[in-house]
Amino acid sequence: MAEPHKDIITSDVLILGGGLVGLTLALALDVHGVSSIVVDPANPADILAPGHDGRASAVASGPYAMLEAIGVGARLAGKGCPIRTIEVRDGLQKKPLIFASDPHEPPLGYMFENRALRVALHEQAAQADNIRLMMQDRAVEVDRGPLGVVATLQSGATVKAGLLIGAEGRQSPTRDAAGINAARWQYDHSAVICMVEHELSHENVAHEIFYADGPFAILPMLPGNRSCVVWTVSREDAPALATLPEKAFLAEMHRKTGGLLGQMKLLSPRSFYPLSFHHTAKITGERLALVGDAAHGIHPIAGQGLNLGLRDAATLAEVLVDGIRLGLDAGDAQLLARYERWRALDSLMVAGATDGFVHLFGVGGKIARGVRRFGLNLVEHLPPLKQSFMNEARGASGDLPKLLHGMTL
Ligand SMILES: Cc1cc2nc3c(=O)[nH]c(=O)nc-3n(C[C@H](O)[C@H](O)[C@H](O)COP(=O)(O)OP(=O)(O)OC[C@H]3O[C@@H](n4cnc5c(N)ncnc54)[C@H](O)[C@@H]3O)c2cc1C
Repeated sequence: MAEPHKDIITSDVLILGGGLVGLTLALALDVHGVSSIVVDPANPADILAPGHDGRASAVASGPYAMLEAIGVGARLAGKGCPIRTIEVRDGLQKKPLIFASDPHEPPLGYMFENRALRVALHEQAAQADNIRLMMQDRAVEVDRGPLGVVATLQSGATVKAGLLIGAEGRQSPTRDAAGINAARWQYDHSAVICMVEHELSHENVAHEIFYADGPFAILPMLPGNRSCVVWTVSREDAPALATLPEKAFLAEMHRKTGGLLGQMKLLSPRSFYPLSFHHTAKITGERLALVGDAAHGIHPIAGQGLNLGLRDAATLAEVLVDGIRLGLDAGDAQLLARYERWRALDSLMVAGATDGFVHLFGVGGKIARGVRRFGLNLVEHLPPLKQSFMNEARGASGDLPKLLHGMTL
């Protein structure tokens, strides 16, 4: 538990939630001299321990350029596996749709263990001049008003700031307390996540294989012949898969991949995540902004959830830094309106497209399969359409904030 104290602490912004998005935002503000207090109830000894979060995330090249620009790149050097090619298949279709980066261009993105990202962000935040990270603490009362934000923390501290940022993930109490309703539904799916070693090299290829009972992704990792599996199964099949003896589980996975990577061996326990969707068009209120999963949660198949949150962070940082330089305060209503407008289209398009894909590929039967394969073939033969998918995968579509071009402000 945090030490009890009665301090009054002030900063430009108060960020509730020091997950991957909240900390990235704090660091993006820090390099531009904007101060933040980040409050998170988690115990660092737990969340930074090996084995805490077996997930891995694809960080697209745009958001990765931002991590480099805000000083986290050096801590991540050599830890991310470049994704050079994405192969998309409808079942075990022989000719996949291929998205490949040119050898002289940066890769489409990098695969990181979530733990590597979290450790790098925590280390960088601990050294930042303008970040006060208050772990194992939480806000028990928050008042937002025309003059500012005042929060009382469980430790007894009082925090005063110009803007409150909700970055507490899917269950964000800040979003709920503000009365912001999200459209939400449960998918009839759970994701089984595990790390595997395989006989053949992954050659930096990410495979997305769509089946009617749920998509299956196998994503390249470092070091050696390792990949992360995101296997979507129906909710009712998940418990059976959890208890399936290892040999049978591996045989089933071999069948799902059509032996693309040869024989496989499990390197981690299998973990299960029920999957759901939520999205809110309103991501601001009086002296309030939402970022990351607090605002939107999508199906993990396209590996875009974290990337959307990192794009929120880059956009909000640019809006706030520009505004504060002009002499506005961080909670200025015009700045928040600019943030909401800037994020609206991108987050709706990605959320809608990901959800659409999950449903489109979930339709069984020969006719549906024929239509899907025709569609994949069409993308393959329409270079502008293919390029727009590539830009999306790189996190480089739309009107991008400067940080996503790797530039500071
Ligand atoms: C199975 C699975 C696989 C995924 N794979 C990918 C992928 O390959 N690529 C990708 O881009 N995305 C992926 N995602 C999505 C990605 O993990 C999330 O979008 C991302 O972690 C969201 O980050 P966040 O910081 O917004 O929220 P979180 O990571 O949920 O962090 C929230 C933080 O808030 C803290 N918190 C909670 N309650 C409070 C409170 N009351 N007060 C203060 N703090 C609080 C928590 O301790 C935590 O530190 C995947 C998701 C799942 C479920």
